[in-house]
Amino acid sequence: MKELTHFINGQHVKGTSGRFTEVFNPATGEAIAKVPLATAAELDEAVAKAAEAQKAWGATNPQRRARVMMKFGALINEHMDELAELVSMEHGKTLPDGRGDVQRGLEVIEVCMGAPHMLKGEFTNDGGPGIDLYSMRQPLGVVAGITPFNFPAMIPLWKMGPALACGNAMILKPSERCPSTSLRLAELVIEAGLPAGVLQVVNGDKEVVDAILDNETVAGVGFVGSTPIAQYIYGRAANNGKRAQCFGGAKNHMIVMPDADLDKAADALVGAGFGAAGERCMAISVAVPVGKETADALVEKLVPRIEKLKVGPYTAGDDVDYGPVITSAAKDRIEKLVQSGVDQGADLVVDGRGFELQGYEDGFFVGPSMFDNVTPDMEIYKEEIFGPVLSQVRADSYEDALNLVIDNPYGNGTAIFTADGDTARDFANRVNVGMVGINFPIPVPLSYHTFGGWKKSAFGDLNQYGPDAFRFYTKTKTVTARWFSGIKEGGEFNFKAMD
Ligand code: NAD
Repeated sequence: MKELTHFINGQHVKGTSGRFTEVFNPATGEAIAKVPLATAAELDEAVAKAAEAQKAWGATNPQRRARVMMKFGALINEHMDELAELVSMEHGKTLPDGRGDVQRGLEVIEVCMGAPHMLKGEFTNDGGPGIDLYSMRQPLGVVAGITPFNFPAMIPLWKMGPALACGNAMILKPSERCPSTSLRLAELVIEAGLPAGVLQVVNGDKEVVDAILDNETVAGVGFVGSTPIAQYIYGRAANNGKRAQCFGGAKNHMIVMPDADLDKAADALVGAGFGAAGERCMAISVAVPVGKETADALVEKLVPRIEKLKVGPYTAGDDVDYGPVITSAAKDRIEKLVQSGVDQGADLVVDGRGFELQGYEDGFFVGPSMFDNVTPDMEIYKEEIFGPVLSQVRADSYEDALNLVIDNPYGNGTAIFTADGDTARDFANRVNVGMVGINFPIPVPLSYHTFGGWKKSAFGDLNQYGPDAFRFYTKTKTVTARWFSGIKEGGEFNFKAMD
């Protein structure tokens, strides 16, 4: 079996811990590689080398750093198909989805080409007699990115791009389920001109994450993953004096108003609910039609669309709508949750359990399921299922639908489908969720805006990518300078003028 490595100081380095975990092709269920799980000692060594390399990189002028980003972007484009295939092989998503994963990461790298503009600081001339003030943004030093399995290219790129463009060195700890894309991206960024040691990919599990959180040199941590781990990492990082932004799980609702175009709403729900097997933090997992008539009509439109979905391996071509889930444990968990929905009295209108694909009997495939008449006390409503399962919660009025979203502990994304501008505007203003779609089911903001949830979907301050990322990955230093020529009067210094 292929043995993966870490990527330290510009080179592939074998793990020394003797601990490994298997990486699977979820479509076949076959273990295709083993990835080393680093020790705290391996991590500390990688951080020490990164700190050394960061000194020169942080002192490199921003325009030169931006040029590395430019070349990196070009290389990602050149290797798009290869990267997408790596993503799909270890994650299971379709190839178009794999390409989308790389593309949305690339778009953040493109914005990082504007680093000189983002980092140019502020200046006040004559803030007092002879006094000028200027603020500059300086890198934190060594920062860490800890990323989830579900976007093996996009999220590592969201972390690497801004952190490196700001002059930091980064320890990237990708998901142990899908490590190969990060290792390949590390090779490409070195080829683009990043000095060795500025990006270190250290593979591992909780042991290495804890070592990152306790390492005194690591000044900032950007995490993306499930809510319990996000909250844990935020607490431990903050306790150790680090800057941290930790993005967690989600339960995203889409409200469908009676005046909405129901065909468009149904198409959007199927794409946003089942795309990438529902393994997206911005997936819509709850449909909230307003009024009985809307709810009945929506189910009627959804069921045939869901039953038509094609589930298969990424190798089957563009014809497939979604692939397997990430592990056999994830498949079991999802199917158990579907059973809990049945046991708790929801109406299972499409049952995706027991799905089998000829030739792929060992793959981690789950057929699509849909529930109607779900209520907020049910497990299927409370849990982030992270699988191809859509729940319909019926609301009597717009206010009830809005309050359902407001009362949900998660606040990553939400959407409303309506033809009425006033309702849409009211929803956008009042809902307590970080990213809002109006007739748009997955409102992931473009790369020059910024991405982040509210409530239990994010811990810490500032969002991912866009202007917020440049703030997160730099510290502000403000200089107040006085030049005495500016306060001279008759050859004397006029200190009174300072009062
Ligand atoms: P996860 O929390 O299991 O793992 C994320 C990272 O944390 C991995 O690198 C993993 O190795 C590490 N980790 C896991 N357990 C740990 C522990 N006990 N201590 C320390 N580190 C640990 O998440 P996942 O299953 O890889 O990803 C899916 C989750 O990520 C979903 O909840 C999804 O909603 C969320 N997600 C959120 C966003 C967002 O921006 N809000 C984006 C993508 C995914």
